[in-house]
Amino acid sequence: MRIVETKMRCGICKKDGAVVYCDGCGAPLCRNCRKFDLWGYGCGHVDPKAFCPACADDIQINPWGGKRPAAEND
Ligand SMILES: [Zn+2]
Ligand SMILES: [Zn+2]
Repeated sequence: MRIVETKMRCGICKKDGAVVYCDGCGAPLCRNCRKFDLWGYGCGHVDPKAFCPACADDIQINPWGGKRPAAEND
């Protein structure tokens, strides 16, 4: 997760000030547009991630929080 340290507009709504960059596409995101996810690796290690709405739902980018394919029978 990368915090926006300069004054920048949100790349999604283009209205509010950005606070964090999307970990998928790198777009600056405001408080309303960011979506948080916690990626866990084994026990104890958790990595906070921030995504724009499109990346949050994209399983290629966000396998922990993305929508799973309907058929997952293996
Ligand atoms: Zn926004
Ligand atoms: Zn994104």
